[in-house]
Amino acid sequence: MYRLGLVGYPLEHSLSPMIHGSALRIANINGDYRLYPVPPSPQGMAELGQLISKMRHGKLKGLNITIPYKQAIMEYLDVLTPAAQAIGAVNTLFMSDGKLVGDNSDAPGFMADLENICSKKTVGREVSRVLVLGAGGAARAVVYALGMAGWEVIIAARRLKQASDLVTHILHKIPDLKNTQSVPTNASELNGRFPIRAIDLNELPVFIQQTDPIHLVVNATSVGMFPDIYASPWPEHLELPASAMVYDLVYNPEETLFLHRARQQGHLAWSGWGMLVEQALISFEKWTGIAVPRQLVVQSLSIEGKPD
Ligand code: NAP
Repeated sequence: MYRLGLVGYPLEHSLSPMIHGSALRIANINGDYRLYPVPPSPQGMAELGQLISKMRHGKLKGLNITIPYKQAIMEYLDVLTPAAQAIGAVNTLFMSDGKLVGDNSDAPGFMADLENICSKKTVGREVSRVLVLGAGGAARAVVYALGMAGWEVIIAARRLKQASDLVTHILHKIPDLKNTQSVPTNASELNGRFPIRAIDLNELPVFIQQTDPIHLVVNATSVGMFPDIYASPWPEHLELPASAMVYDLVYNPEETLFLHRARQQGHLAWSGWGMLVEQALISFEKWTGIAVPRQLVVQSLSIEGKPD
């Protein structure tokens, strides 16, 4: 029996059991993917310890980690992959050569989905400047992935300090960017090209007017997520940058207010559903060695009917 699971809290809206259940069936593996809701408390940390022990003894073959344990789990592990180290968060545990390894599949999951979208839409190499809204855990993975892929990244967050800290951290984690000096945080200083920089979310209107074209806007905040579905991270009376593509990491609902408005204005726009499937299948391959094609999982979920 191939036992997999997800630990975090709360977990009742998780779609991971559906995705991994489908992957297990397609890969013809006799197994299951369970939810382990562990509230943050001293007792919760003990439960986390028990799950880690099951991983070490092979009773659990793989674990996904979500909020609030993506950072807290790191001290229990033997090895971190370069991506997990750079992002500073772990969402996948697997055993390798007797060592418990922490990895982060959000970054490659996001990039796989973006590349899939760009190849379908035959978007060319000139697409290279991205505005990321938010500087939390998911933003760290997205900024790392985009930085590694050579995109010019602007992070806009309501707490400028959080965004600036992320810039400093990522600049030191991506070898080619390590020696970059200047990290302007004022919209009036934003002429010229910087690989990664931070701005205050309140400065968006000035920034949009003054900067070079933005090719992609990514929402990496939780704004618009169920149950607050009538909220958008983008100011209501501000136009999106002309012809920018839009990507919302939020996948519940599948069409957020942000995506809805962007589509109404004629922008190409995608939800985080594709990233969710991609990151799950990257974890699944780490655990089983089997690369399940995304299309088969998406097809099987659309037949079963995935929840909104
Ligand atoms: P997080 O660590 O809590 O970060 C949330 C970010 O949103 C923070 O920067 C936060 O700023 C900002 N934010 C929250 N409310 C805001 C508001 N009203 N105005 C402006 N900024 C606001 O959460 P996360 O783990 O990064 O997740 C973010 C979203 O990505 C969630 O909806 C999650 O479901 C989604 N996600 C999707 C995938 C996928 O596979 N598609 C993977 C991971 C995450 P403060 O720190 O100032 O509050």
